Amino acid sequence: TEAYLGAMEKARSLNAYVLETPEKARAMAAASDDRLAKGEARPLEGIPLGVKDLFATEGVRTTACSKILGNFVPPYESTVTSNLWNDGAVMLGKLNNDEFAMGSSNETSAFGPVTNPWRRKGDDGSIDPTPLVPGGSSGGSSAAVAARLCAGATGTDTGGSIRQPAAFTGTVGIKPTYGRCSRWGIVAFASSLDQAGPFARTVRDAAILLKSFASVDPKDTTSVDLPVPDYEAAVGKSIKGKVIGIPKEYRVDGMPAEIEKLWADGIAWLKAAGAEIREISLPHTKYALPAYYIVAPAEASSNLARYDGIRYGLRVPGDDIVDTYERTRAAGFGDEVRRRIMIGTYVLSAGYYDAYYVRAQKVRTLIKRDFDLAFHAGVDAILTPATPSAAFGIGEKSGGDPVEMYLLDIFTVTVNMAGLPGIAVPGGLDPKGLPLGLQLIGRPFEEETLFQVAQVIE
Ligand code: GLN
Repeated sequence: TEAYLGAMEKARSLNAYVLETPEKARAMAAASDDRLAKGEARPLEGIPLGVKDLFATEGVRTTACSKILGNFVPPYESTVTSNLWNDGAVMLGKLNNDEFAMGSSNETSAFGPVTNPWRRKGDDGSIDPTPLVPGGSSGGSSAAVAARLCAGATGTDTGGSIRQPAAFTGTVGIKPTYGRCSRWGIVAFASSLDQAGPFARTVRDAAILLKSFASVDPKDTTSVDLPVPDYEAAVGKSIKGKVIGIPKEYRVDGMPAEIEKLWADGIAWLKAAGAEIREISLPHTKYALPAYYIVAPAEASSNLARYDGIRYGLRVPGDDIVDTYERTRAAGFGDEVRRRIMIGTYVLSAGYYDAYYVRAQKVRTLIKRDFDLAFHAGVDAILTPATPSAAFGIGEKSGGDPVEMYLLDIFTVTVNMAGLPGIAVPGGLDPKGLPLGLQLIGRPFEEETLFQVAQVIE
């Protein structure tokens, strides 16, 4: 804990943490020392973790990196973080993220962008000082794990926010099956897509953490009552005979050569380890991104209606209650959040609801069916690139056409639309020396298979 607190202090320029909680960390670490001395260690005893600022932490400021939550201090703890502390983990602080987890670069945070600890190589081999994004929305989590500012971190993934930042920072991130972890106490973005999951340095660490994250919770009726397997036991098991699907629809036009190579390398490694490689078709893939950008904003516009200046955080008083709502929301929400609220309310309006929202939900069913068919035909896991590129420069893609940023989610959103588990695992470096990630997609509640296969790639 002391080593991490020291490292955090030295690395403040990365802006990974929006709040450090050294006193709490030291108290928790001391309690862990006592447990260890008594031989009563719990599974995560004394392991220092960072928490995405989307998770409510009792008595510790939680903002979702939005001005509208101001200095909101929740009187309750999210179920996932409660699970971690009950297992002995130590909280180091709260990590930066895109405002309300809306973004792919951590540039929409009210606390400003996070810097990726990785740097590009210049043409002459020297280090290019251009600061790069750590991915988003869990950019503080990915940067902190990559820079060794925590042993692991919590993240949330609505459309790729764990897997894409993991890929951009050479870390491991898993989005579990929808329902595997409780969403209670996590600031809601798009409730039918949101899922919590861990960031870690290795597949084994991610497996250990997920065991603690996962639980059925009466406070989240979408959490599922299935036993939580010993994920760690799957790490290191042979993948001989496992069938790995390669979806042809993910070979998108204009895929950069380094992403093609990454994917080919991944296929070769799994084949060499005894897996059977099978080409598959997921024909509705091309509709996933547009359908996601209807479903996610629709649910967000509904979820964010609660920020009215009365119940939480910021209040800008107006002449009457409606004026107070308007002033508070105008002052509290950033541009991207407003854009999502406008899109969401539009697609949910009378007259447009059937044409957009209902249509998108039907597309979602078709996407899910594509996966069902592949798994039914014997595919154990599906291998794709995690992202269409490596990390880019801060400011390089923001401020322009937002659709350019949305396109970065092309390989990840499908998994959320279908509710499936997906893991991102480092697969190599691009020609400029930046990490690239591979993604494995599994059957519902078969995260073990993902850990088993990912460990071969790692
Ligand atoms: N980049 C996607 C979005 O902006 C996904 C975000 C997420 O998974 N939280 O909606």
